[in-house]
Amino acid sequence: MTSLPSHEKLKEMTLTNVTVGYDGGAIVKEASFQLLEGQIGCLLGPSGCGKSTLLRAIAGFEPLMTGEIKIDGKIISSPSITINPEERHIGMVFQDIALFPHLTIAQNIAFGLTAWPKKAANERVDYLLDLVGLSGFQARYPHSLSGGQQQRVALARAMAPKPKLLLMDEPFSGLDAKLREELVPDIREILQHEKMSALLVTHDQMEAFAMADQVSVMDAGEIHQTGSPYEVYHQPETRFVASFIGHGDFLPATVCGPDCVHSDLGNIHGDLDHGFADNTDVDLLIRPDDILHDDDSEFVGVIVSKWFRGSHFLYRVKLSSGKVVYCFASSHHNHHVGQEIGLTVHLDHLVMFPR
Ligand code: ADP
Ligand code: MG
Repeated sequence: MTSLPSHEKLKEMTLTNVTVGYDGGAIVKEASFQLLEGQIGCLLGPSGCGKSTLLRAIAGFEPLMTGEIKIDGKIISSPSITINPEERHIGMVFQDIALFPHLTIAQNIAFGLTAWPKKAANERVDYLLDLVGLSGFQARYPHSLSGGQQQRVALARAMAPKPKLLLMDEPFSGLDAKLREELVPDIREILQHEKMSALLVTHDQMEAFAMADQVSVMDAGEIHQTGSPYEVYHQPETRFVASFIGHGDFLPATVCGPDCVHSDLGNIHGDLDHGFADNTDVDLLIRPDDILHDDDSEFVGVIVSKWFRGSHFLYRVKLSSGKVVYCFASSHHNHHVGQEIGLTVHLDHLVMFPR
């Protein structure tokens, strides 16, 4: 049996055309991406799209139907090879924190360190508790810690044996929103400090963006695009990525020049890098904050619903074509449903798909 050298950092993990499923049926299809040393990657997609299935295949719990997974040039999974999970030097953190209730915090973290000399193991526990902001918690028991504290311990436990790669499956979804907002950037910092490569699974875009260097956007078992948060937001390659990330919507438009499209909201100018011919019918990507309320605009729509968001109103507005779009307005502009309001579009870069 081959085993990977321990205590070495991951240089790269490469997935090539990975298909995984259950009972002969494919769930994840032809997934390919690469994760480099010290990178934090993320599988982002709606519930049920196959994120956990792919993560389990990387951990060694699901055999591959096609393709291969390599770590540092060595195949760890293919249809004919499935290296045992414990030989992959991969750590895991799950949504249900699952600390051992009858063990102290120190014993929980030291769980994977049985092969270490006692002194080195104790030092590692102390170091990690300090890193996750819980120094002095060694002798406490899990039940006496808050959810966020327990998740920090779970992270320390997974990191303790210095895995090559840390897999995290929705690790924050059991926590309330405020705690999550604090914990996510903290955990990114901890992983970066340890230069640990990690792969996060989440359905939450904000979490993905706050945590990851590289995001793979998935839908129905397929990876649509892998890129930086900036790239998947600003240069979405498929309609799914465009609409899933940032609540994108599509405004019907017609190309009317090298940097111009015509729509219900007039001519919209911006960088256009798709090279569509004039008069091509397209769908222009717009985000909720791209259309603003403007009393002076000649272009109007009728409010069909509204939300007060404190600093602003978010309206749903019906255009003359019947298309309904989002519109931002400052919170001083309190209009009622049924009222007609002026609209302008603010876009620098035009992202569009052929209709
Ligand atoms: P996600 O993590 O993106 O929510 P999952 O990978 O958990 O998605 O599930 C993807 C699909 O695979 C779902 O339709 C789910 O019902 C199915 N599935 C998950 N685990 C199993 C299993 N052990 N046996 C059969 N089907 C499964
Ligand atoms: Mg899942």
